[in-house]
Amino acid sequence: MMLYKEPAPIKDRENPFESMMSRFNVAAEVLGLDEEVYNVLKSPTRQVIVNIPVTMDDGKVRVFEGFRVMHSNILGPSKGGIRYAPDVFLDEVKALAAWMTWKCAVVDIPYGGAKGGIICDPYSMSAGEIERLTRAYTNSLIDIFGPDRDIPAPDMGTGPREMAWLMDEYSKTRGSTEHAVVTGKPLVLGGSLGRVEATGRGVMVSAMAAMEKLGMDPNKSTAVVQGFGNVGAWAAKLMAERGVKILGISDVSGAYWNDNGIDIEAAIEYKNEHNGRLEGYKGAEMMDPNELLTTKVDVLVPAAVEDVITIHNVDKIQARLIVEGANGPTSYKADSIINEKGIMVVPDILANSGGVTVSYFEWVQNRMGFKWTLQRVNERAERIMNEAFERVYAASQKYNVPMRIAAYIVAIDKVAMTYKYRGGF
Ligand code: GLU
Repeated sequence: MMLYKEPAPIKDRENPFESMMSRFNVAAEVLGLDEEVYNVLKSPTRQVIVNIPVTMDDGKVRVFEGFRVMHSNILGPSKGGIRYAPDVFLDEVKALAAWMTWKCAVVDIPYGGAKGGIICDPYSMSAGEIERLTRAYTNSLIDIFGPDRDIPAPDMGTGPREMAWLMDEYSKTRGSTEHAVVTGKPLVLGGSLGRVEATGRGVMVSAMAAMEKLGMDPNKSTAVVQGFGNVGAWAAKLMAERGVKILGISDVSGAYWNDNGIDIEAAIEYKNEHNGRLEGYKGAEMMDPNELLTTKVDVLVPAAVEDVITIHNVDKIQARLIVEGANGPTSYKADSIINEKGIMVVPDILANSGGVTVSYFEWVQNRMGFKWTLQRVNERAERIMNEAFERVYAASQKYNVPMRIAAYIVAIDKVAMTYKYRGGF
């Protein structure tokens, strides 16, 4: 019998949960967080592991392992995406769930944090297999999910299509149409205008806010965007529209460089016509993906996966500003060198929080049974992002800490205060 090959263990990678905890500890120390609250927040409220049997197209049944981690529901129902990836693992999902808690608190929306994951390779599966997997995962977590309990959304490897299946499966089981159980849905199924581009737009808004603080003129600045999925491509497009010259981009097929600036619209068009990949894109020269992060540009936007800026390359980074489109792209050990070098970082829990902000708008619209215009969505999201940026910037000045620790301080303070009002058992 052919056994499903387990993904190879991840080497040379910091444990993302520990990376998250290290920053949490620093912020807790600065805040003087009391022990009771520290103990409540340091571990997830609930972690669920499911084994999901799915009939594959060849008629054989394969069992997939899936997770859902609810880190906190102090601020409200837990919120966070579902990741489909061959190498997703529990400690990663735990970290991602905690980051959702801090993210929602930083932008001041009434959600706790959660994250889900399924160990699978969606790129090698048919649409039918992914649909059956998504429906089975939804079914196995039917008592966890709910518009007032835990609200999933897309993450790496998932998008509106999967959210539609999830919403449909949940609704069928409940016997009523439940739009608000999931966000990031297709527009015709209760999705919100502006949700698809929301994370990339928030990255652009926070990049502009940071550039203003640093006295950088977008029209005279250059950038590299690592990762050309939904977040990276939108961030690149919107930054380019604001005058930033995007010299380099990359995805799993490699890194692409153009001294005159990459035509982002053309690259997006190419990617859309080529199964979501840049492979074969001719508007740029190929370059070593490792070098992409360390070339001389003003702004670096890591918008792919965790742990790409590590002690192995941080020394060589030349950008003045890092805006984290991805979750956890900088490993904890790299933080101190970044700070020594005087690089400003707009951390993930601030920079990419535009996605969950518009998810919140989607949920609000679903509950109102009313649709907002794109202009309303974008204006409100931009205001929320700018206010969050100012709160974090003010905390970084007040406590004399880097932006990342300041973001954790703002978030932990908010959750701790709410916890105090609500009380424990
Ligand atoms: N997966 C996205 C994130 O990491 C979106 C989560 C959501 O909209 O709930 O922020």
